[in-house]
Amino acid sequence: MRPHIEIGILFSPSIRFHLHGEFIEKNSGKTYRGEYTVCKRQEKIIFRQEKKEEVILSGFTLIPADYTSSHFELPDVIIGIHFHWERKENQKFKGSLKIIDEKKHLTAINILPLEDYLVSVISSEMSATSSLELLKAHAVISRSWLLAQKAKSFRRTANPSRVQTETEYIRWYDREDHLHFDVCADDHCQRYQGISKAYTPIVSQAVEATQGEILTYEGEVCDTRFSKCCGGVSELFENTWEPVNHAYLTKVIDTPVQTSTPDLRQEEEARKWILSSPDVFCNTRDKAILSNVLNDYDQETRNFFRWEVYYETTELSELVKSKLGIDFGRIVEIQPIERGVSGRLVKVKIVGTLKSMIIGKELVIRKAFSASHLYSSAFVVDSRKDSRNNTIGFTFKGAGWGHGVGLCQIGAAVMSEKGYNYREILAHYFPGTDLEKIDHE
Ligand SMILES: [Zn+2]
Ligand SMILES: [Zn+2]
Repeated sequence: MRPHIEIGILFSPSIRFHLHGEFIEKNSGKTYRGEYTVCKRQEKIIFRQEKKEEVILSGFTLIPADYTSSHFELPDVIIGIHFHWERKENQKFKGSLKIIDEKKHLTAINILPLEDYLVSVISSEMSATSSLELLKAHAVISRSWLLAQKAKSFRRTANPSRVQTETEYIRWYDREDHLHFDVCADDHCQRYQGISKAYTPIVSQAVEATQGEILTYEGEVCDTRFSKCCGGVSELFENTWEPVNHAYLTKVIDTPVQTSTPDLRQEEEARKWILSSPDVFCNTRDKAILSNVLNDYDQETRNFFRWEVYYETTELSELVKSKLGIDFGRIVEIQPIERGVSGRLVKVKIVGTLKSMIIGKELVIRKAFSASHLYSSAFVVDSRKDSRNNTIGFTFKGAGWGHGVGLCQIGAAVMSEKGYNYREILAHYFPGTDLEKIDHE
């Protein structure tokens, strides 16, 4: 049997959808088509079409009678939740629709063959005009990552994802909260928009050309992470997620030859690095390359290799209070405490008139200092003073976009443009790994 994947696509007290073509319910064998609403009333799940209602059980699964010609549609799915490009879209999906009750809300799950999911996810993550080698590299890492996540859910990790005391708040976000499906449809896992984005022959070609190919390290499937732009150097897995070392998610300088770079864990070196514009693969403003990697909405974001944000002190104090739910009073200072190998902050101390506290890891930091997210946690902060030496504002100057672990998407696009093939791209970002073909049937 071909491997299937279960994706959590919508979380809501009530879900509206349209079945295009005939769908058969897995347990009852009853057939359905057209528009439906499903919601909770008291403890029951009510399934409704116009005035017809029935009570269904959690796990209700609608399977298309004909996989190729049928699809279902969800109106107004929010994509890029809390990111700067958040928006609503109608989305269409191939495969089955499963409704489960997760108590806080109902969850819509899409089930489909892994290889079809890959075509979609790569179309969603990347522009379909990307080069074949880049798309092939993406197909391999998406497939590997997915299989690594599926393998992981069988052995729940022992590391708590949150440490909170009076003086420290350290947390990371991985897949801990997905108990009833493999992955979600947002950037938290891999951006997936069903078949709303047109499948293009080249994406299918990339998935087919690499069918069953995964990256392994010492015989185990690799947890192949990727982000938009490393900023020049990639980060270690354990500085972003649980404290586990993966030898292939290591410090990679985004240049053809691994020359020695300064130790960016050191404050002075990190500052010099972040304020400079090193000659690395992802240091590009080439519109043609960027438009090949970034989807249309991602192109709203241009300055990500090096970026800058300024806040007035009161503005920042309010922002941090609302984002962390902790009142620091007036923020006096933001001190770097610990940096990773890419210069990304792992821990930062917020010093306020009421309270001081250390926060981490990178995503907590990125969220704390922005209405949505800062581009990355590789930043330095300079305070602006008035004539009486009072701090009136803070300037954040940063490098890169995303967590910076694993493959750098912009860098990989530049590599493929320069003529590197997908094996070379993968070997660059995941040193020491092997490309293997798994038996896919
Ligand atoms: Zn997720
Ligand atoms: Zn890079």
